[in-house]
Amino acid sequence: MATSQEGGLNKKSAWSTINRNETERLAADYMSVIAEAKTEREFVESATRAAEAAGFKRADVLSPKPLAGGGKLLFTNRGKNAVLVRMGKRPLDQGFNMVAAHVDAPRIDVKQNPLFESTGLGLFQTHYYGGIKKYQWVTIPLALHGIIYDKGGKQLQLRIGEEDSEPVFNISDILPHLGQAQAEKKMSEGVSGEALDAIVGHVPGGVSDDKTPIRTGVLKILADQLNIDEEAFAASELEFVPAMKPRDVGFDRGLILAYGHDDRICGYTALRAILDQKNNPERTQIVVLVDKEEIGSDGDTGMQSEFLELVIERLIETTGEKTTARRVFWNSVALSADVGAGMDPNYLDVFEPTNAATVGNGIVVTKFTGSRGKYSAHDASAETLHKIIGLLDESGVPWQVAEMGKVDVGGGGTIAKFLSKRGIETLDAGPALLSMHAPQELASKADLYACYLAYHAFLEKAR
Ligand code: MN
Ligand code: MN
Repeated sequence: MATSQEGGLNKKSAWSTINRNETERLAADYMSVIAEAKTEREFVESATRAAEAAGFKRADVLSPKPLAGGGKLLFTNRGKNAVLVRMGKRPLDQGFNMVAAHVDAPRIDVKQNPLFESTGLGLFQTHYYGGIKKYQWVTIPLALHGIIYDKGGKQLQLRIGEEDSEPVFNISDILPHLGQAQAEKKMSEGVSGEALDAIVGHVPGGVSDDKTPIRTGVLKILADQLNIDEEAFAASELEFVPAMKPRDVGFDRGLILAYGHDDRICGYTALRAILDQKNNPERTQIVVLVDKEEIGSDGDTGMQSEFLELVIERLIETTGEKTTARRVFWNSVALSADVGAGMDPNYLDVFEPTNAATVGNGIVVTKFTGSRGKYSAHDASAETLHKIIGLLDESGVPWQVAEMGKVDVGGGGTIAKFLSKRGIETLDAGPALLSMHAPQELASKADLYACYLAYHAFLEKAR
């Protein structure tokens, strides 16, 4: 089997054209951001702080008051979705340039009645979020992030397991000595969803005739340290995420191993791309950070919600133009900024190498997503590809074209179809990852930088 491609559009490494120092600087900042922001809420908070520091003003979609001046606006939606806007000189009716990325990532959510005791352990029942390979999430250190209310009705933001001084949580796996039946199962069935209960306690805390003293002990600690009772979990939103920090990979430090590259690598580079803009824009520039992509983009904070419509209506109100959100969308262009699959040297057989992405070869331009005959795809037109590839060339951005895997093997979707449904001219473009959806995913620093360059150029110059 060939391990590299001979010729073709995709063979050039981005490392030969990018500035190594700037790439390392961007990578270091990215790694510090995703070390802290491990949930959609935390990423939106982090983005909000960065936007405000760069002069963006908080704006409300429903407020009757006129929007603050300066033209740099930040709209947030229920803490899980943000829209950043730089108002352009041209009328909104002529459309905007938008980069949209999702900031949720696969993880292990806590059920609403989580705590039980078994075999000398206190455990939380969980329900995984997104398309994970369940066997990858056992035996690793997990941190607990999210929202819960204390007995006084105060909202607490939990973040337990990220500091060295804090405990972590853990999902056990059967030892190989007794794992023969498991080993003979299909990998997708080797670890079941209900076998993802996480260990949260071990020390009995109850009186002698207590049938579940460890449960009692955990509840006592929760009451003492956080002032919460068991009922609090019913109204909580708690997520187990890998308790690991982003790390450089390889002797030459060219890759980043981290949780949540999908899709915070695009969320981060899109955010930086709008914050770092220098000139007053001709066309209005928008960056959307959105939730719930990993479970279908449904819900009031996902790309299928109409929050973007509300934002555009608010902008129209402010400029006083005689137009509608639908008309504005129809004249707009967007990059659906999401990750793709890089060719994995250990699994070359699922890729068709002349149309597969290579990590480190620049941003991946993807005409269509979907699976097995382009089913449920957003399929960009030649005109859109011509325009955007031209822009990338003109801006010195390393790029490659790819689709995800061999035709009949599988595929995936992005938010692109929910943008193009609105009439926005849309193209998928983002970095290739290895180990996508694993607790630790791999991304190339060169691709991180290429995405930043691409999103920056697109916001500034598209159309
Ligand atoms: Mn994604
Ligand atoms: Mn994903």
